[in-house]
Amino acid sequence: MIITQGPQFQGKASKRLHVMAKPIGAVCNIDCSYCYYLSKEDLLEYKKGCSPQMDDETLETYIRQYIEGQNTPEIIFSWQGGEPTLLGLDYFKKIVEFQKKYQPEGILISNDLQTNGTLLTDKWCEFLAENNFLVGLSIDGPEMLHNAYRTNKAGRGTFKQVMNAVELLHKHNVKFATLTCVNNLTSRNPLEVYRFLRDVVKSPQMQFIPIVEQKTFRTVAPQTEQIAAQLRQGDKRLIPGNKESIMEPWCVSDEAWGNFLIAVFDEWTQHDLGKVFVQYFEASVETWMGRKNPLCTLGEICGKGLAMEHNGDVFACDHYVYPEYKIGNIHNEELDTLAFSRKQQEFGFAKSKTLTTQCQKCEYKFACHGECPKNRFIKTRDGEPGLNYLCAGWKKFFAHADKSIAYILKMLGNPVQHGKYSDAKMQQVHQNAFPTKF
Ligand code: SF4
Ligand code: SF4
Repeated sequence: MIITQGPQFQGKASKRLHVMAKPIGAVCNIDCSYCYYLSKEDLLEYKKGCSPQMDDETLETYIRQYIEGQNTPEIIFSWQGGEPTLLGLDYFKKIVEFQKKYQPEGILISNDLQTNGTLLTDKWCEFLAENNFLVGLSIDGPEMLHNAYRTNKAGRGTFKQVMNAVELLHKHNVKFATLTCVNNLTSRNPLEVYRFLRDVVKSPQMQFIPIVEQKTFRTVAPQTEQIAAQLRQGDKRLIPGNKESIMEPWCVSDEAWGNFLIAVFDEWTQHDLGKVFVQYFEASVETWMGRKNPLCTLGEICGKGLAMEHNGDVFACDHYVYPEYKIGNIHNEELDTLAFSRKQQEFGFAKSKTLTTQCQKCEYKFACHGECPKNRFIKTRDGEPGLNYLCAGWKKFFAHADKSIAYILKMLGNPVQHGKYSDAKMQQVHQNAFPTKF
């Protein structure tokens, strides 16, 4: 099976790939406790005394290969770190120049930039707006919650600088989305976080990211640990903060993740439907309709989003930047060859091939697909390895949202393909059995 199969574009098979490029590697100006990327500086053994910056030759090679490797009406570049704005505005002007040099006629080129916002200025925002960048801004909620973990190198909170960035983004009409980490603290304050993002930040798009990190995450790659050592679902040592927990203390627990999603979902359905964009909820509505989940974490297969370090090394995914998951380097092989290589395809299809029996039988498999493989490090209660750490939370949320999502789809005149209230199941009961409120 080949990932490139699909719709046609310009008379040829459509070919799409996505890479998160890290032109400054893991280097960052702040020091968030739960950052999964800072430790890559040691893991990837950056040369001592050298600034890990993508040089011009690698940058141009990457941009050319990324454009030539795709056959779609739009090509989207994603820039991440570390903190990519540390490279300075001129570096990003150079990026746009290289893109123009290789831009084929009639093809739109767009850029995403993931940032902690602390270095944004008027000049930066003018540039971002002018060049139509979509900015992903990391912000964890109101001051106390944000500052708990998102600190600078001196250990002080970064809330004020990030709120300054929010102001600048609005002032210059820069497109942006917020990325909010759901950790042990934010998960206990779902409405404070959500209302703050909605009412104060006025976030046009909200993305919530569950923080799941075992204490070994800095050096041990996912799926390389001893299977026999996996703990069973429900084991107290899986609860962050518990004595002898294998999890970092700032992680969200499975139960807290489910409760967070439920509280935010209820607020969203009751007050903000059609007005506020919450990525997980919009994606869930699509899956209930029978469409593919647009998010890799909840999709059937993965492997379509690679990560590339400053020196051109390419890895299977942003969450798999470990030597074991390196698939090559763009100075040795073309990017599309790496992206569609057997090794990468095996990585992508392993997501569905390694599902536990519990997932295969799960009534919400259509919406979850066992979630991200990086989080599959526990055993089911029956002792089968490879279950997702967040399983209980996801299941609780899906069961809670099921009726409301079906109701939303019905009200909008759309089919309900899945869930307990699917059109097929409702017909089996009787015509008017559908609930008339959330
Ligand atoms: S490993 Fe997780 S984050 Fe990476 S592509 Fe797969 S589902 Fe997405
Ligand atoms: S909710 Fe749990 S059992 Fe169901 S598919 Fe997701 S991880 Fe598997």
